[in-house]
Amino acid sequence: MYPAAFRYHAPATLEAALALLAELGDRARPLAGGHSLIPMMKLRLAQPEHVIDLRKIAGLAFIRETDRGLAIGAATTHWQVESSPLVTARLKLLAEVAAGIADPQVRNRGTIGGSLAHADPAADYPASLLALEVELVCASAKGRRVIKADAWFQGLMATALASDELLVEIHVTLPPPGTGAAYIKLPHPATRFAIVGVAALVTQDGSGRCTRARLGITGVGPAATRLAGVEAALAGAALDRATIEVAATQAAEGLDLQDDRHATAAEKAALAGVFARRALEAAVARCGG
Ligand code: FAD
Repeated sequence: MYPAAFRYHAPATLEAALALLAELGDRARPLAGGHSLIPMMKLRLAQPEHVIDLRKIAGLAFIRETDRGLAIGAATTHWQVESSPLVTARLKLLAEVAAGIADPQVRNRGTIGGSLAHADPAADYPASLLALEVELVCASAKGRRVIKADAWFQGLMATALASDELLVEIHVTLPPPGTGAAYIKLPHPATRFAIVGVAALVTQDGSGRCTRARLGITGVGPAATRLAGVEAALAGAALDRATIEVAATQAAEGLDLQDDRHATAAEKAALAGVFARRALEAAVARCGG
């Protein structure tokens, strides 16, 4: 399988890449790790006239500590996130999510920015980045804007990113003390994409009550989304087994579930509940640190 003919550009600076995007708009596609774009092009599901390779641009791959938490450059590979001592020390959840993606070959090339821009409905990062309420920094020739995670995913492989923009950074605010976090997925046996994946962040006070719950789900619908019903059911409640079990029954509420080749809508509803419960139990077990 060969892609349709395209012109290849390899700008050396972010400014040059943004100028190209401003000129070419949706006739061009940025290339990061290529692990989603190139298969799409080979299958002719994407036929850009121009490909703008981002890999020669310095300064797009980094992990930095900020006053609120972490800043991660869009071109940071899954392997860099997985193996970062800083991420492991400050937010182990993200290192665990990255380590669960695909295989070492894919993790060595695939990037967090590429994953978020591609917005595959079964990708792993979206569930946890929604639960973390991250901010996505986008750049165009006109300047920068910040998009909140909740506004980013807009449907099947659709995001808030404009055709003249690049995703450049992801800003993560560390959750408050007393928070436990976990991501649990049912991986596809061949690709390890999530058939269902739930990320849970739960904050507990000294008496064992939930002061804050944030959950994101991926895999079961056209786009990753928050589990608002579960979050509401946990607010102020004691984080015991019975409460978690009841809260998790809210997981399928409001999800856009449709039959596909992996599972029926009814099976996905059941999986959402089971994985919400498992992720919550794992997160609560980590609340102590
Ligand atoms: P690319 O393929 O280069 O680009 C993807 C899309 O994002 C393109 O539309 C491109 O134009 C756009 N883009 C890239 N960077 C930017 C940017 N900075 N700004 C704006 N747009 C940009 N993912 C999982 O989450 N879990 C899995 O288990 C998993 N398994 C996989 C198994 C296989 C065999 C393969 C091939 C992929 C798998 N993936 C999985 C997907 C993988 O994580 C990809 O790396 C990721 O989806 C895309 O990242 P990339 O850097 O390769 O992006």
